[in-house]
Parts: sequence; C-alpha cells; structure tokens
Amino acid sequence: MSYVKGLKCRECNREYPVEPVYVCEFCFGPLEVIYDYNGIKKVLTKEVIEKRGQNLWRYRELLPIDGEPQVGLQSGYTPLLKADNLSRELGVKELYVKDDTVAHPTLSFKDRVVAVALTKAREFGFDTVACASTGNLAHSVSAQGAKAGFKRFIFIPATLEASKIVASLVYEPNLIAVDGNYDEVNRLCSEIANKYRWAFVNINIRPFYAEGSKTHGFEIIEQLGWKAPDNIVVPCASGSLLTKIWKSLKEFKEIGIIHDVQTRIFAAQATGCSPISTAIKQGTDVIRPVKPNTIAKSLAIGNPADGFYATQAVNESGGYGEDVSDPEIIEAIKLLARTEGIFSETAGGVTVAATKKLIESGRIARDEVTVVCITGNGLKTQEALHGQTISPYYIKPNLASFEEVLNKMKNVK
Ligand SMILES: *Cc1c(COP(=O)(O)O)cnc(C)c1O
Repeated sequence: MSYVKGLKCRECNREYPVEPVYVCEFCFGPLEVIYDYNGIKKVLTKEVIEKRGQNLWRYRELLPIDGEPQVGLQSGYTPLLKADNLSRELGVKELYVKDDTVAHPTLSFKDRVVAVALTKAREFGFDTVACASTGNLAHSVSAQGAKAGFKRFIFIPATLEASKIVASLVYEPNLIAVDGNYDEVNRLCSEIANKYRWAFVNINIRPFYAEGSKTHGFEIIEQLGWKAPDNIVVPCASGSLLTKIWKSLKEFKEIGIIHDVQTRIFAAQATGCSPISTAIKQGTDVIRPVKPNTIAKSLAIGNPADGFYATQAVNESGGYGEDVSDPEIIEAIKLLARTEGIFSETAGGVTVAATKKLIESGRIARDEVTVVCITGNGLKTQEALHGQTISPYYIKPNLASFEEVLNKMKNVK
C-alpha cells in the first residue's frame, strides 16, 4: 500500500499524478512527492521500524513506491559512529560520523537514491535506466541496474578519475564518456531523456530518486536514539541530499516520531565549486553558476539543480555554508583516517574540513551534538592522495634490514 498522494510543484503548488515527470508544465518548477502523513502516522512507529530489516526500506511508507521494494535490499542502514578521537582533535564535545562509505553495494550514499529510482522505474515499466553522473551515481546505476536486469546507459564527463571509470565498467553498462563537464553532460542527457523512453534516474525519475536521500536523515535520528542532533554538516553537489535531510527531519516530526527539531543544517562545498555555500555566505538565494575546478569531482556541479532549495533549507534551519580548498580537503581526508579509521573520498574531506572551519569560526558550538555526513569511500578516489600520504619504508627481506629501519624511526606510532 502506498501513502503517496502525488507530485506537487515546489513553486506554484499545482498537483500531478504519479508519473515519470519532473517539472511543472505551467511554471517549470521542480516536482516533489507528497504523502498522506495522517495515514502514515497510524502505521509507522518506532517499534515497527525497529523490527524491520536493516536497509533503507525500513522507512518504506515514507518512500514513493507502490508495491514491494525490488531493488536495493542491501542499501542503507549504514553506521553512525561516535567519533571521539576526531571530536577531541576538533575540540568539540559530541561528534558523530554518518558513515555511508560502507554497507552499501557500491560504497556511496548514491545507493540510497538508486534503490528507490530503480524500484520506481520498474513500477513504471521501463526496461532501460540511465543517468548523468559525477562518478558515484554511475557506479550505483551500473551495479544495481545489472542485478535488477535493466539495460543501462551511463553518461559521465570523460575527465573523471580513472579508478572511478573502471568501477563502472566492471558492471558492463553502456558507458558514454562525454567531452565536457558535468553540467554539459547533464544538459545532453535532458535532451536524450526527451527523445528516448528511458528512466533517467536523476532527470525524469528525479522526484522519486531524490526521496531516497531522506533515509540518510531518518537513520541519523534513529541511531541517535530517536533524537535530532543540533547540527548536521552535509556535502553539496546538486544540493538534493541537503534538502532531503531537512525534509526527513520535518517528516519524522510530522508523524510524531520526534517532537522537536532544532537542527541547524550546514552546506559544505569545495572552494573550486561553491555556488551554494557562496550564495549562503552572501545572504542571497540566487545561485550563480560556476565552472568547477576541484579535486572533489563527485561534488563538482557548477549549476546545481536544487541549489536554491538547499540555500533556503540552510537559512530556515539557522545553519550556514562553508567552502574549503583542495589542500584542506586532502588534510581532512587524512585527519578522518588517522583519528577514526575511515577512508573517505574527497567529498568526505570537504565535509570534515568544513566542519573544522565552522567550529573554529564559532558557527558550530563546541558543546553541541554534531553529525558529519561522509558520503563516499576513499578507495574510489585514490588518485587524489597520490604523493600526498606518508611513504613506506623499503627494506631487504631480512631481520637486520628491518632493525636498521626500526632504529632510525624517531617516534614509533
Ligand atoms: C552525489 C554526492 C553527494 C551529494 O549530491 P547532491 O547532488 O547534493 O544530492 C555527496 N557526496 C557524494 C560522495 C556524492 O556522490
């Protein structure tokens, strides 16, 4: 049974039935899934959720599918780790890492959105799925699409990291490497989506796809013992994840699972691509598109589709935006690894570095509860760290050679 009432334009509030459409015919505003919260309230309780399988479908009444979940039974319910070492280093009392680098089939939070998108694509009767991707979405659509038996067309900027390309190719999708940046790839895909009857997960299926991101927020609340934190720091590409984390808090309040939301949401971006955090800092909700130039390629969207709404969510919550340089991103990846044993991709470096700055500037108070969203695994972007880590010790295969090196080490870790 579905509690979806339909789609609604975020600008003019015109309503639409559940179909693979994504913009309002009248004002071109983006469409958003709306639910019957009174109905959901009667069936979805903490106790019901706690008894369900440890994947994102434990919140299924708040996801836009009609029948049984068909894809992504291994996605979601990632760890929320109390990051004591990192919080000591940053000088705050209580810090948590929501760790989407693990437990998903392709090791990034995109497995959440793709699980919902592909289930919906199947319900709509599509046999081909497609996407425009900065890397992680390509992995997830390639992998989950393979398992679910879809034909797959994956469009990426040709300049993506070599390891990110291999990690898509291994699932043998039709991979199209476009000579252009993500925004150009995305524009091309909109044209293709108009012509071919394919489920482009982040274009014509976008309203449904994006709902999957809410589960990142639901899990944070559940894993904190059914409480909303004081602060959440979220990496932004299109800005969708951020808006959906905000929606997840409001929905849990709406259906009575939590009573109070005083959470501030913070947008983290790389300085080389910071249209959202820059707008927030400048006190405007006009997003100025930029040409991305950063090692954080998974966040490199210069013209973010949900930038305006992300800015609004941040402002409504009382949060802020922060951007960080490429060297700060590298340092933060290493900081998270050496304090918490988590190897994050560049996007996670952006979040950790931004959190550090927000604490130092007093925007995040040291005695509050803060959750840092780490959204993708570092094994995917190893190139970013080449020449940036410590070096190994090279020895001959004998004890004397080892001890020669050992004696030279100044402070053994
Ligand atoms: C896609 C992505 C995000 C955020 O994407 P939005 O477009 O803002 O929803 C964050 N981190 C990683 C690793 C991603 O791949």
